[in-house]
Amino acid sequence: MHRLTRRALIGTIAGALAGVALLSSTVHSAWCVLIGILVGAAYAAANRPARYAYVDNLMAASALGLPIWGLVSVIAIPLLTGQTPQWGAHQMRTHFPALMGWVLYGALLGLLTQAFADLAERLFGPELEEEVVAPPTKKRIVILGGGFAGMKTAECLEEQFRTDPSVAITLVNETNALLFTPMLAEVAGSSLEPSHISTPLRSSLPRTEFIRGTAVAVDFENRRVRLTGGAANGAPGNSDIRYDQLVLALGSVSNYLGMANVERLAFNFKTLLDAIRIRNRVIEMFERADAEPDSLKRRPLLTFVIAGGGFAGVELAGALNDFARGILADYPRLQPQDLKVILVHARDVILPELSESLGRYAQKRMEARGVIFRLNARLSDVSPGVVMLSDGDVQADTLVWTAGTAPNPLLKLLPLERDKRGAVIVEKTLAVKGHPGVWALGDCAAVLDSETGKPCPPTAQFALREAVRLARNIQAQLEGRPLKGFHFDSLGALCVVGHQTACAELTVPFVRSKSMRFSGLLAWAMWRGIYLGKLPGIERKIRVLMDWTAELFFPRDVVQTIDLK
Ligand SMILES: Cc1cc2nc3c(=O)[nH]c(=O)nc-3n(C[C@H](O)[C@H](O)[C@H](O)COP(=O)(O)OP(=O)(O)OC[C@H]3O[C@@H](n4cnc5c(N)ncnc54)[C@H](O)[C@@H]3O)c2cc1C
Repeated sequence: MHRLTRRALIGTIAGALAGVALLSSTVHSAWCVLIGILVGAAYAAANRPARYAYVDNLMAASALGLPIWGLVSVIAIPLLTGQTPQWGAHQMRTHFPALMGWVLYGALLGLLTQAFADLAERLFGPELEEEVVAPPTKKRIVILGGGFAGMKTAECLEEQFRTDPSVAITLVNETNALLFTPMLAEVAGSSLEPSHISTPLRSSLPRTEFIRGTAVAVDFENRRVRLTGGAANGAPGNSDIRYDQLVLALGSVSNYLGMANVERLAFNFKTLLDAIRIRNRVIEMFERADAEPDSLKRRPLLTFVIAGGGFAGVELAGALNDFARGILADYPRLQPQDLKVILVHARDVILPELSESLGRYAQKRMEARGVIFRLNARLSDVSPGVVMLSDGDVQADTLVWTAGTAPNPLLKLLPLERDKRGAVIVEKTLAVKGHPGVWALGDCAAVLDSETGKPCPPTAQFALREAVRLARNIQAQLEGRPLKGFHFDSLGALCVVGHQTACAELTVPFVRSKSMRFSGLLAWAMWRGIYLGKLPGIERKIRVLMDWTAELFFPRDVVQTIDLK
């Protein structure tokens, strides 16, 4: 018999007996016995029986007597017999026997229900449990890092496992947004609002559990990740999360090549906060220089050194130069010749990622706008007010370091095979060697192209394509299908070198060795079009487009948003 039917039957018998015994004598109404039967059936059906719980049942069902008395004896019966319910002291005295009747009825109902339930269990055995449909075993895929690689992996997994509830996806990241690094220089140069180049991870990945936290250790044996600042299981603080498949997408950090003073004194240029700090630093230096009457002391305040002539350094130098020269108008006491933006590069041509001719073009255009180049020079040390280069010191209060990156230092703490940069060595399928169910991609992984055998560069372009392959390989592994190697032909590279000027080198489709080069306004328009298209989220695209439009009509903003003192 179904458990609810059995309970209702028990309640009906108990309710009938209690009703006849107590209600018929005290409440004097056949209606009340009927109601007693119904209440008994409902009471018993709603309560899962526990063995010998007489006291619990006695108390619970007695308490039920009070509201039923109010509803039935005080309100319903007078209404049914054409009278108006009365609440006065006199009427209450009249209703008192009924109250006692209902409370006693409840007590007896509780006792009888329990007694019949115990008897039924003895005679017929325990209630039949409903057939429980076992929830499908959840396979948990945990992704560490919500940058280009991590977010794209989660996005692809969401799509692939859209209709499969047996797979749970968890993404852990230090911040709650994806930073669109190609536009970071524009934030430092005050062209874009910081939050406009950050895409919120929670709303972008609806099927993924997002945890804002920092992974600090991985226990590969027990398949657990230790987090700090995470809120796994709803509790902030240190927590462990279990995984079946683990994706390492931890990115990279600045590598100061062992120069402790540089690490201590230089500005970093990797995160949104770095870009905000740099912008505020420029404004702060202008304010201080404006208040400084001594021209000798003013110069280091207005000298900004950027170490590293790769994409990040060149884009930053171009953006800062435009920004600083643009805001000079707000500081009439400062002279253009006081301002210096110096780019230090260890080779004789900047932008080694592009052809030499484009590197030289970029250098010429930037020089024409006032950027100073210190080529074939190495930064050796820094002290407050002095940047030491291999070909002579520079008096400067601001140094930004973009000259080296290294894979995330957490990887050093993990028992994984790494290359000399510190990146995790992976198979061509992006699986980590010797650790089944562990994968790595993006800047933190040493990936070899499965067709060319060449190392894949640490760029967003590659991280995004690796993510697509990795997500497919995870699915293939879970479904017992063969995995495929990662292959991608670079689409080319674009770099903005200053106001409405860029360099672009795009690969000719299907002809790997051939590329097309663009420069100047056309390349700049291509840069804006391509990266606006790649910026995730329509809302962010509109915001960035609005910032760019405002920039055409209004001067750069010199409001300091954080206090650097
Ligand atoms: C200024 C700048 C401009 C660039 N421009 C371009 C460009 O134009 N084109 C291009 O292709 N590439 C560009 N790059 C490179 C590109 O940003 C990287 O290659 C890309 O971000 C790598 O993606 P990733 O997911 O591996 O790492 P990231 O995007 O760095 O993501 C790593 C994520 O992991 C998180 N994380 C780190 N440690 C932990 C931890 N312990 N626990 C939890 N989370 C953690 C970080 O917060 C971060 O969100 C640029 C880089 C910079 C800095």
